[in-house]
Amino acid sequence: TSSGGGGSGGDNIKVVVRVRPLFPGEAGKGAANVVQVAEDGGSMKVIVPGPGGASLSREFGFHACLGPDTSQAEVLELCGITQLLDAALAGYHVTIFAYGQTGSGKTHTMSGREEAIDDDAYSGADADDGIVTRSVRYLFHQAHTRKDAKYSLKASYVEIYNEGVYDLVHFNKKSLPVKWDAAYGFYVQGLKVVPCGQSRMMMEVIRTGMKHRRVGAHQLNMESSRSHSIMTVYCDATPTDPSSYDYGTVRYGKLSFVDLAGSERVKDSKSEGVMLKETININKSLSVLGKVISTLAENDAAGTTAHVPYRDSKLTKLLMDSLGGSALTLMIACCSPSSLQVEETLSTLLYATRAK
Ligand code: ADP
Ligand code: MG
Repeated sequence: TSSGGGGSGGDNIKVVVRVRPLFPGEAGKGAANVVQVAEDGGSMKVIVPGPGGASLSREFGFHACLGPDTSQAEVLELCGITQLLDAALAGYHVTIFAYGQTGSGKTHTMSGREEAIDDDAYSGADADDGIVTRSVRYLFHQAHTRKDAKYSLKASYVEIYNEGVYDLVHFNKKSLPVKWDAAYGFYVQGLKVVPCGQSRMMMEVIRTGMKHRRVGAHQLNMESSRSHSIMTVYCDATPTDPSSYDYGTVRYGKLSFVDLAGSERVKDSKSEGVMLKETININKSLSVLGKVISTLAENDAAGTTAHVPYRDSKLTKLLMDSLGGSALTLMIACCSPSSLQVEETLSTLLYATRAK
């Protein structure tokens, strides 16, 4: 288990699987629950229906497997999110991904119930609340009570669609350029980073971003399931104890919460023009991400230095300083339990296995 230590040790990348419940409507359409999560939480079995009633079962092991009864609060605990947040407050870079096919629970896991953003009184404090808002509350509580340093929290929220990058806080239809700077690495030129003195200011950023993700999908004439979104929290900390070894040196911690595009293969029979380009880009950016993470995991475990293809997609360019090195990564692979989705579920589990 990672305790925010960073460095080597082969455990900077964790992979967790979450299986959502089977909805009554799905059962009504003949779907059966074919994904079993073991009692101990570390392994899961997918039962693949075969011809003539035969079935084949395949077992997968991960750092944790969360079954359909896992509550939103338990997700944080079982995924070790608090340790990741503490690491960010200590100056580390952390990335949390939600991967999976459309409808598998990525947005539910990261942000909570999407409809909640329509509620003007939304405070990000109900039981359905996801990882992002729960994390924001924790971070502000820590920032306001810790005495070791002066903390300053900021946020930005972007969407990546068809290799274009859009600011979800100050949304317009123009995509922003990604630039390289020798000191800072890749960055989005013109992106607004919002200083947030209080938790509710950051909640407003989240809510605005989620709303714009929906509006933007309409304006750009795309399916929002085809885009990636990255909500970033910057944790600047200035140590206040003169006897501290890093007194006066600002630590730039950073957390990226990534709600990935649906991993399902787009049916390509009718794909042409823009649609085709979109399909190629989405599949490509997810496969580049898989390659980046699996190469990092291999390098980490074997002590090798194989080339990591960060520059092959916008997503991995933007996350370059938060994947690898001393950065901590958590990938949550979201799955449907339905017999009608077995192929996609297996493909998600294989992707997640490669990232381990
Ligand atoms: P995705 O973002 O992967 O497309 P969503 O998060 O939007 O999927 O989930 C699809 C639907 O399933 C939503 O209505 C969501 O609220 C519901 N859902 C997903 N995961 C769970 C869960 N663990 N418990 C209850 N409802 C869930
Ligand atoms: Mg979603």
